Amino acid sequence: KGGGGGVNIQVLLRCRPLSKEELSINTPVVITCNEQRREVSAAQNIANKQIDRTFVFDKVFGPKSKQQDVFNHAVVPLVGEVLDGYNCTIFAYGQTGTGKTYTMEGGGGKTQDGELPSDAGVIPRAVKRIFDILEAQSAEYSMKVSFLELYNEELTDLLAPDESKFSDDKSKKPMALMEDGKGGVFVRGLEEEVVSSASEIYKILERGSGKRKTAETLLNKQSSRSHSIFSITIHIKECTPEGEEMIKCGKLNLVDLAGSENISRSGARDGRAREAGEINKSLLTLGRVINTLVEHSGHIPYRDSKLTRLLRDSLGGKTKTCIIATIAPSVHCLDETLSTLDYAHRAK
Ligand code: ADP
Ligand code: MG
Repeated sequence: KGGGGGVNIQVLLRCRPLSKEELSINTPVVITCNEQRREVSAAQNIANKQIDRTFVFDKVFGPKSKQQDVFNHAVVPLVGEVLDGYNCTIFAYGQTGTGKTYTMEGGGGKTQDGELPSDAGVIPRAVKRIFDILEAQSAEYSMKVSFLELYNEELTDLLAPDESKFSDDKSKKPMALMEDGKGGVFVRGLEEEVVSSASEIYKILERGSGKRKTAETLLNKQSSRSHSIFSITIHIKECTPEGEEMIKCGKLNLVDLAGSENISRSGARDGRAREAGEINKSLLTLGRVINTLVEHSGHIPYRDSKLTRLLRDSLGGKTKTCIIATIAPSVHCLDETLSTLDYAHRAK
């Protein structure tokens, strides 16, 4: 439990099922998941190339796993921590098309009469659970959310009101990441919406991810190269046994990372970047930060990318982190799948 030497990083592996298209052309499967043993194996046998590798993770979700299962194991414990006043982060890491957005946001089913669809992902389920718990405790609390996109080391606000109906570029102004002088950072001009019900957050989430999708068609697959960061900050008022008032503040970051194919093989395997081929500084730096945390190997390079600067107060120390690595079972993805398995395994 908890990965490398007491660091609170859990690494989960999820393999999606073959798609209808893949099934219709009899795509060979090269991945086997053994959920009991928490193992994933990649095997391929062709004339002059034999691959047979097995990796162990903190938890393995096979192709038949349900959104509810992933939520129960990956997220429920972190929600408890957040309500106790800690910062936690959940990352989805993997090749484009392997289910990062499906896992984080869901499969597109609509909420009906306040009931989440069965394909709802981690974010709406976390939101629902947070409100359910706070309401059951009749706690006095306030909550705000933000939704950012990070592309090419530029931050944009997915919740900013549209300034122009005609140009999506203009409504996505880059924002500056500022130091607050106390070791923390903030994003200048970031829209933080105060929310008081789960349904409000579902709408906000739809708005933000809708914006990301529009941008995708305009800017040609930008979303596979961009990270989205949905953050929920909660302040809860409590009374100590002595009758003193105390405010607990916790934060949950839910991060849908850029497609892992955007970092070079060497970067994924040994955590080093060849600067010339560097497409995604934040993805590489995140890998280095996590490796340094896991190996306790000295200086943690938070400052080397916007993503790690932004999440600094939620990575390491007393925080809990969960990485959900996503893969596809198809033979055509095998190279990238091995990279993902290596990267994720190094984080343990
Ligand atoms: P990514 O965000 O990693 O690029 P997506 O989440 O968009 O990938 O998933 C690609 C496709 O596969 C989508 O059509 C999605 O609905 C489907 N998919 C992904 N994971 C699963 C799963 N576990 N079960 C069913 N369908 C899935
Ligand atoms: Mg996606």
